[in-house]
Amino acid sequence: MTDPVDPVKLDRLAEVAVRVGLNLQPGQDLILTAPVSALPLVRRIAEHAYRAGAGLVTPILSDDAVTLARYRHGQDIGFDHAAGWLFDGMARAYDQGAARLAVAGGDPMLLSAEDPEKVARANKAMALAYTPARERITRFATNWTIVAWPDLAWAKLVSPDLDDDAAQKRLAEAIFAASRVDAADPVAAWAAHNATLNHRSAWLDGQNFAALHFTGPGTDLTVGLAEGHKWLAGATEAQNGITCNPNIPTEEVFTTPHRLRVEGTVCATKPLSHQGTLIEDIAVRFEGGRIVEARASKGEAVLKKVLDTDEGARRLGEVALVPQASPIAQSGLLFYNTLFDENAASHIALGQCYATCFHGGEKMDAGEIARRGGNASAIHIDWMIGSGQIDIDGVTQDGARVPVMRQGAWA
Ligand code: ZN
Ligand code: ZN
Repeated sequence: MTDPVDPVKLDRLAEVAVRVGLNLQPGQDLILTAPVSALPLVRRIAEHAYRAGAGLVTPILSDDAVTLARYRHGQDIGFDHAAGWLFDGMARAYDQGAARLAVAGGDPMLLSAEDPEKVARANKAMALAYTPARERITRFATNWTIVAWPDLAWAKLVSPDLDDDAAQKRLAEAIFAASRVDAADPVAAWAAHNATLNHRSAWLDGQNFAALHFTGPGTDLTVGLAEGHKWLAGATEAQNGITCNPNIPTEEVFTTPHRLRVEGTVCATKPLSHQGTLIEDIAVRFEGGRIVEARASKGEAVLKKVLDTDEGARRLGEVALVPQASPIAQSGLLFYNTLFDENAASHIALGQCYATCFHGGEKMDAGEIARRGGNASAIHIDWMIGSGQIDIDGVTQDGARVPVMRQGAWA
């Protein structure tokens, strides 16, 4: 029986993670988090990191069975508690120059049958304790990246009809294609991909559109863009001067909408997987930037709870363009994982905006971001509104229309 995870492509994925994702520098330490199921990838990454001159690679592993043991047998008092000491230590390591690599994987539905109140408490405690580390990552204090491992439980969710090996092989091949490690020289393939993405974001920046207009079946949506918005894509220069690719894969070109200037109706083109619930056929109407009507054929109660999280949860924090030609869209799979699904179709995100999506955003405080139309919320949830049937026009500052996408392809 051959390995369902091709060892040659796995090694290339590790090389891409270190050389493209992180652009790890000689002498730089690395903090690597991963599920234990991803050990084959973790070991390849460690080897590539040391060959690239890494100082010290510190792996921090999690395990789905250990997590479940907590929910089944843990003391109630423990659910308001998180390993703050660990995240404080990570923050200190970033301040001292360490890079950060996260391996995504594990069962996306792991906690779907557990007590939602305990899940919410644990998530809240974790979010709070993680703040110092997350704050450094979101402002790119250091170079960081995320890559994916084809975990078996995840693979079975994506392909429930296949046996274990066939399901894992299918997910592994989809991850490899999306991560552009099918090519013999994936580092060169990524350089070409980054150049294409930069070309798109530079063109959109040059247009400085006032709004984007989406039309298609069930969709007639005008998304106003924030003042001084900046389009981002692909590689990012971190504050330590190192250019990294924070997401492997990445296909999106994205920016900040104006939280008060979104009007019209929009239908989701893919189901949204949110904390173990699948929300299907979302249709919403915006007025003055705010969702005033929301429906879903499945999971509507969960959707409404999400929208009631806080004032900013009904407004947009991101708009992103992804062509149907992207390898992830072409796979036709629903991954139940934002890293992949948000790179399969144009999308919008409810909630928090990115300060990095403003020109000069690194020097802006929350008040300045809000004045320019940036949204604030405790959530950031991407959902897909693009497909091969959607057209997008840019609306210039003086009201002229410029074709941006036709039938899901760049115009
Ligand atoms: Zn996005
Ligand atoms: Zn997003």
